[in-house]
Amino acid sequence: MTVWNLGSINIDHTYHLPHLPRPGETLSARDYRKGLGGKGANQSLAAARAGASVVHLGAAARSDDWVVGRLTSAGVDTTHIVRHHDQATGHAIILLDDDGENSIVIHGGANRTLQQEQFKSAIARMKGRDFLLMQNETNLQVELAQVAAKRAVRVVYSAAPFDIEALRAVLPHVSIIAVNEGEAAELTAAFGEDLAVEGMLITRGAKGAEYRDLRGGRSFEVPAYPVEVVDTTGAGDCFAGYFIAGLDRGDDIPVALRRAAAAAALKVTRSGAGDAIPKLDEVEQFLA
Ligand code: ADP
Repeated sequence: MTVWNLGSINIDHTYHLPHLPRPGETLSARDYRKGLGGKGANQSLAAARAGASVVHLGAAARSDDWVVGRLTSAGVDTTHIVRHHDQATGHAIILLDDDGENSIVIHGGANRTLQQEQFKSAIARMKGRDFLLMQNETNLQVELAQVAAKRAVRVVYSAAPFDIEALRAVLPHVSIIAVNEGEAAELTAAFGEDLAVEGMLITRGAKGAEYRDLRGGRSFEVPAYPVEVVDTTGAGDCFAGYFIAGLDRGDDIPVALRRAAAAAALKVTRSGAGDAIPKLDEVEQFLA
């Protein structure tokens, strides 16, 4: 089936500095790296590299062809990505100091300009047993979740960045909610233990992950694989993309969890976000 993804596309600009700049201070960066990021793009890359048929619904500046090219070459269908002449691609300015502290500025740019009209033909093709992924880095979540759910598409919502009002609005249309440990705590504080969704994916960093089937009442856990950590950016997106690709393929939950944990383990051994997400054959090799 198809995995649709209403997702943010960001360019991550990462600068290494001796310390984080103080107000009014000008600092020279030791190095600079530009890479593909955004929770949406990361999840599309992960699901596509895991073998799913992925269609990305989003937007980017016309001048940033390389960004869309990265998705296309991973096998993502990018034909529904709206290209703008007058909007910047979403981006993040990431400042890192020698102690591993960071300061991050995000500009949503084109990610926040989506209109339902732009995805009419995509919506018309959505059908039962498809998945629609979304995260809280674009606009249009509620509108698309609503039309997709009406078409019996299972909506998977990554509640990040966590926003209680955004979550409350989209929740009636969501089948599976995906959160990390911090977001899970906020979710429980706001809604208690009984959420009216089909399932909940909770990732817990180096402690592994869990999928709670809230209809059948069963819980499945997977430990994290012990690896040498280089950069955990995008680990949760890599996990979510691989996990949903597994469900889409018809894998049992423990199988999908195990492959997702292996993919996320490989991801954390590499620096970068989208670019660091492994391919399925690398994951199979890791598990062999
Ligand atoms: P997020 O990036 O959304 O905060 P997590 O930190 O929970 O998500 O990480 C997602 C998944 O990535 C974890 O469930 C685990 O499988 C893997 N992972 C994260 N950190 C580590 C680590 N230090 N060692 C091994 N795997 C990790």
